[in-house]
Amino acid sequence: MAQSWVETHGIAAKWESPCTLCGGPIAVGDRIFKLPAKRGGSWVCWTCRWPTATTSLESVRRKLRHRLALHQPIGLNKTEAGVLADALNAIGAMRSTTQDVDELRNWLTISVDTGVPANLSMDEAHTVLLALDSETPP
Ligand SMILES: [Zn+2]
Repeated sequence: MAQSWVETHGIAAKWESPCTLCGGPIAVGDRIFKLPAKRGGSWVCWTCRWPTATTSLESVRRKLRHRLALHQPIGLNKTEAGVLADALNAIGAMRSTTQDVDELRNWLTISVDTGVPANLSMDEAHTVLLALDSETPP
């Protein structure tokens, strides 16, 4: 099915709000995009609509925290899974990690290689965030 104009090009936000997917700030005038109906149809930020362009480790961390706070499913696209796998690989290269982190790192890498989206449970998202937070200076 063809994408609609607002799915592809977005509109200017008329009021401030958090992105419904990642919780990132959306200011008045920022470009927002309507997700296709099969992805929920909500209004999201640029990074959530077009992840290959702007996804960063910080944006993925923000999304994980936001989805955890809302107790909502945590689906990662291939780009987001790749960013997390790279970060966990960097940690794994510096020090030994727990079996849970090792398994998640392998699983995310498989997700990237196969293109199958990664869905994290709340426990898995907590495990990833704890591993990442332990590497971040206060
Ligand atoms: Zn977003």
